[in-house]
Amino acid sequence: MELLKRRIQEVGVVVSDKVLKLDTILNHQIDPALVLEMGREFARLFRETKPDKVLTVESSGIPIAYTTALTLEIPMIFARRKKTLTMDQDTYSERVPSFTKGIVTDIMVSSHLLHPGDRVLIIDDFIANGDAARGLIRIVEKAGAELVGVGIAVEKSFQAGGNSIREKGIRVESLARIASLEGGRVTFD
Ligand code: 5GP
Repeated sequence: MELLKRRIQEVGVVVSDKVLKLDTILNHQIDPALVLEMGREFARLFRETKPDKVLTVESSGIPIAYTTALTLEIPMIFARRKKTLTMDQDTYSERVPSFTKGIVTDIMVSSHLLHPGDRVLIIDDFIANGDAARGLIRIVEKAGAELVGVGIAVEKSFQAGGNSIREKGIRVESLARIASLEGGRVTFD
């Protein structure tokens, strides 16, 4: 998606050879017009797979998953990272290492929100090693729901996550693929 690539070049901050900060458009401040276009692009890519729910994980996946679900006119679920007092006891949960925080967190979805037969589209902001996406995939499997694909805003293709999921036969679409962050520069595929 050319618009996203252009915005990454304009505002992306290369923190290290492995981490890109997009705090002014996606990860802290949100650019609503950009995020709406991203949702429309995911909707265009996946509409034919007939998803009936979008699933993401809090927090940075939420805006993109929301605009995707809005465009497709289907509900959006975000997996929560910690059990809250108001959360149902009956949950599907997975332990997921966090790439940016360097800790392990539990992500969970109330079992009344995902059902066998649901056609689920997973959306997230970045893919690095693929742990977050794999955790969401396992939640879909535990619910007996059907995964139609995975949409990722920014795939760092020099890391293994995206291809490791494609190797399982799952469709993964990314809007921008970054080949390298070396030398403090963003190089796209
Ligand atoms: P993975 O689980 O694929 O290793 O990492 C994906 C998760 O880590 C995403 O949900 C995203 O929030 C975060 N992440 C991974 N790489 C980056 C990065 O370069 N920049 C930012 N801002 N987040 C990242």
